[in-house]
Amino acid sequence: MAESGGKAYVLSIDQGTTSTRALLFDSKGTPVQVAQKELPQIFPNDGWVEHDGNQIWADTLEVCRQVLSKVKAHEVAAIGITNQRETSLIWDRATGVPLHNAIVWQDRRTADLCARLKSEGKEAIVQEKTGLLLDPYFSGTKLAWLLDKVDGARDRAKKGELCFGTIDSWLVYNLTGGASHVTDATNASRTLLFNIDTQDWDDEILSWFDIPRSLLPEVKDCCAAFGETASGLFDVSLPITGIAGDQQAATVGQACFQPGMMKSTYGTGCFALVNTGSAHVHSQNRLLATVAYRIGGDVTYALEGSIFMAGATIQWLRDEMKFITSAEESEALAKQANPDSQAIVVPAFTGLGAPYWDPNARGAVLGMTRDTGAPEIVRAALESVSYQTRDLMDAMGADMEAAGLSAPSELRVDGGMVANDWFAQNLSDLLGRPVVRPVVQETTALGAAYLAGMQVGFFGGQDSVSAQWQQEARFDAVMDEGTRDSRYGRWKDAVGRVLTV
Ligand code: ADP
Repeated sequence: MAESGGKAYVLSIDQGTTSTRALLFDSKGTPVQVAQKELPQIFPNDGWVEHDGNQIWADTLEVCRQVLSKVKAHEVAAIGITNQRETSLIWDRATGVPLHNAIVWQDRRTADLCARLKSEGKEAIVQEKTGLLLDPYFSGTKLAWLLDKVDGARDRAKKGELCFGTIDSWLVYNLTGGASHVTDATNASRTLLFNIDTQDWDDEILSWFDIPRSLLPEVKDCCAAFGETASGLFDVSLPITGIAGDQQAATVGQACFQPGMMKSTYGTGCFALVNTGSAHVHSQNRLLATVAYRIGGDVTYALEGSIFMAGATIQWLRDEMKFITSAEESEALAKQANPDSQAIVVPAFTGLGAPYWDPNARGAVLGMTRDTGAPEIVRAALESVSYQTRDLMDAMGADMEAAGLSAPSELRVDGGMVANDWFAQNLSDLLGRPVVRPVVQETTALGAAYLAGMQVGFFGGQDSVSAQWQQEARFDAVMDEGTRDSRYGRWKDAVGRVLTV
């Protein structure tokens, strides 16, 4: 069924860390076609993680062609792209050949460089200008590594022969046959090189790494004309009109368009973002400030915090502890657990993220008694994700109140873990706030579709997207305040025992 103008769909490309997907959304924001390919992970060294850029492009083309084969290409209004953030690639501007594998966000190879910059007192400058912290996670030091270590890269970059990009840039470059070297403000805001106040690459930070501007993509709004697909790729040429990094896309897909609206995505890890409106809030609690989206030249900012181990804690229960045989079983076991159990799991398997930022902390199970069994540990593991969300929400609330904004009052959730009703209820109980789950849980891909569709008039503006967003389930807190406070107090005590800083 074709909508007005004969357009019935938006194609969303969701290039994630472990898979590449293409989805077609109709004008109601319902996913109607999906194709997916797993992406191989490359581990060349301890703590190093790479992806093959050519593979990412080949997979993207394949999944797009798969979904487009199910409809008439001329029914597709536009393409939106969302991507794993921070992952960094350089390629030859003329030939499109990558000079090295992409360095993935998880990669820690630039830890020493970050430590050196910190010792030179540069973290305060980074935080002030970019909203980020000096951590190998972000693209800037990965790009510096590529320029230093790949033979001839720095000279060629100075001659303008190379392109740097995050995965969105790389995909647009390929989709347009090399015509566009662009990115959007959300992806730019994760590079460590982008000043989120001036919305421009920052010359001072570029000079630390000796990065020429000509290497960097042009930064556009999230809704913009990024380019047209090259002839021969699909049956017709399609405009690329929406881009956002994955967590920002999920924020749009959850229609968190007002200051104080917060979303949290519970996959392997958990990423929480709260909209701070036109204010770049400088966190006093080691949260990140970032661009939530930029539409029509107007920047909307967010505070962001992440939990390294969310669903991964459930995988640990399944694969290492063997307390469950599937993630879904965690719900039944949590319900069986003695509700008075004092057991606490601190899943600091790879350190703790915001607001603690302790890479050397390690996991612990505390408060066990003779009758603590698998159900109590499973329950405590699920609760640990709720406690960590409370840590983030409290930090966000404090930062927002200090900036004269209202703290978040409810939480919109998505990701694999929130299928678990026990967890969603526990989250609400420990936050003391409503937790709301949407009908369409493909929020990341949907957000990219919304951005692309808003640009071409396929979706209306933010108001009509907000009106389209629908709640599937709502969990209200039923735990009394005394219990909530005493349980959270025991969590803080447990965290205090594993911190090394
Ligand atoms: P990612 O995108 O990071 O791969 P997903 O959003 O697909 O993650 O979610 C998968 C994660 O959710 C896994 O880590 C899994 O352990 C967890 N998970 C899935 N279903 C449940 C459930 N019913 N209860 C708890 N955790 C779950």
